[in-house]
Amino acid sequence: MIKTDVVIVGAGPTGLFCAHQLGIIGLKCEIVDNLDKIGGQCIELYPEKPIYDIPAIPECTGEELTNNLLKQIEVFKFKIHLNQRVEKISKEGSNWKLTTSTQQDFLSSNIVIAGGVGSFEPRKFSIKECEKYENNSVFYSIKDKSIFNSKTVAIFGGGDSALDWAIELSKNSKVILVHRRDEFRGASSSVDKIKQLEKENKIELFTKYQLSKISGDNNLEGIEIKHDDGKVKSLKINYLLGFFGLIMQLGPILDWGLNVDKKTIPVNTESFETNQKGIFAIGDICSYPGKLKLILSGFHEGALAARGCFKNAKPDEKLRFEFTTTSKSILKRLGKSN
Ligand SMILES: Cc1cc2nc3c(=O)[nH]c(=O)nc-3n(C[C@H](O)[C@H](O)[C@H](O)COP(=O)(O)OP(=O)(O)OC[C@H]3O[C@@H](n4cnc5c(N)ncnc54)[C@H](O)[C@@H]3O)c2cc1C
Repeated sequence: MIKTDVVIVGAGPTGLFCAHQLGIIGLKCEIVDNLDKIGGQCIELYPEKPIYDIPAIPECTGEELTNNLLKQIEVFKFKIHLNQRVEKISKEGSNWKLTTSTQQDFLSSNIVIAGGVGSFEPRKFSIKECEKYENNSVFYSIKDKSIFNSKTVAIFGGGDSALDWAIELSKNSKVILVHRRDEFRGASSSVDKIKQLEKENKIELFTKYQLSKISGDNNLEGIEIKHDDGKVKSLKINYLLGFFGLIMQLGPILDWGLNVDKKTIPVNTESFETNQKGIFAIGDICSYPGKLKLILSGFHEGALAARGCFKNAKPDEKLRFEFTTTSKSILKRLGKSN
């Protein structure tokens, strides 16, 4: 059980800046994100696209913004817990208990939900039986590529992830690439490479095919794929990989007893607290009259939510308004004092 002042759900730009605001007022926090990387939509959806409306930064990419936000909180040494989704919350006296999908527990006087449009989840195979083999022989992401060495792997998808993994795994595995269209969405250089590997018999390619059946007892043994014209092919494989992109799901947040309106959480604009005391919502996930789903709005919301958290974390102390330029205590927390 990790005890802290605030747990931030979501390591997107809003959650990261809120952590900075908590740090400068002397609160501790832990950040949790479902993704395997930090940065939310900026990193997952547009890492290389330039953003032009961050105040005082004429142009920066999603990745640069994330790196700078991380640099700004480095001094506080807050822990960021990746690859885990906050699943459950419950009240424990005046605190909140949170449990993640990896069974990590937190006890905190505050929760700041900076969950954006929800957690990003892989789009999965529509064949229900695939669930039985998930994380065993059916995968939607790869953590350890060595498990596929000398095995037969069927990769489904037509985007960059499918193509890149097909190319990479073909070095040590027998790869079958299956896509429901003739055209691929991935980079043309990767498509050329796939065609070349097919010619060299290093990749078997099936287009206009979709998964129609999966079979095996405890272990996956084979699949059937069906062509648009109805023709069916049986393939013996050891592993099945699907790369169909991501969907966003509010998921467990919907079960936390919060008011929810059109997949957003209404808040008061004084502190960004929700209908539950000690739970705040900021960034794309919160709603109030005039809300703009912009990063700059999330920064402002995070600053006010941080101050709201202070009252619950340190009820006997009074928070004074101070500038970072002149406050001795803030400068000390930032490691800038002499
Ligand atoms: C293509 C594109 C271009 C954009 N361009 C601009 C722009 O130019 N300027 C601008 O201001 N905005 C832009 N935006 C919008 C901007 O990216 C969002 O407003 C911003 O990312 C919202 O930040 P956030 O921190 O609220 O949420 P997000 O960035 O969505 O991050 C939320 C994080 O919470 C995590 N999460 C959710 N639920 C859970 C849970 N239960 N447990 C653990 N983790 C969870 C998610 O995995 C995610 O990482 C753009 C968006 C897109 C898609």
